Amino acid sequence: MQNISYKIDNSLYLNITNRCTNACVFCIRNKNRDFNGKYHLWLDYEPATEEIMKEIGDSSKYKEIIFCGYGEPLIRLSTVIEVAKEIKKKDPKTKIRVDTNGHANLFYQRNVLPELKDLIDVMSISLNAQNSEVYNSICNSFFGSAAFDAVIDFIKEAKKYIPEVEATVVGIPNAINLEKAKSIVEGLGVKYRVRTYYEDEYVK
Ligand code: SF4
Repeated sequence: MQNISYKIDNSLYLNITNRCTNACVFCIRNKNRDFNGKYHLWLDYEPATEEIMKEIGDSSKYKEIIFCGYGEPLIRLSTVIEVAKEIKKKDPKTKIRVDTNGHANLFYQRNVLPELKDLIDVMSISLNAQNSEVYNSICNSFFGSAAFDAVIDFIKEAKKYIPEVEATVVGIPNAINLEKAKSIVEGLGVKYRVRTYYEDEYVK
């Protein structure tokens, strides 16, 4: 039995792939196939649009619908677009967020952000470092040294198409220079947020 969605407060999180272009040292997938002691998020197969829509049901009852992990949701770009279109067709007021590692343009070798315009309301992009060296030591990207700059470019581009963009950093003490990361994010003109290290919050 796999869970393709889970609830936190009044938001519905969608879990549509295990795949990711990073292998972050802090990733919950390294330590746990279950989330919050309740949800089995490691997928046996990737759900199709119809199954995801059935799982969502009435989107208007949620504060937000969030494409999130276990894996990187934009690896399934066409599914994200299809589901978001369906949701907006049924209820244009439903707020849709994507939590992403910001690699999509590198992965697809094109700018995918115009395709998400008017579908995605909020984008939360993981920066997780103050430079490429630290990024790779923490995130172990398949794209190597190209990844950090690609995330910065993705944040800049996202601002043009997505109404609300934030860049986040996981609060791992002694690994990431939070002050420097904050200054980079502020320079990019998007909201900065420190995410709680999951072991503090989610591993029960
Ligand atoms: S980007 Fe997210 S899903 Fe991918 S390895 Fe890092 S924490 Fe895990």
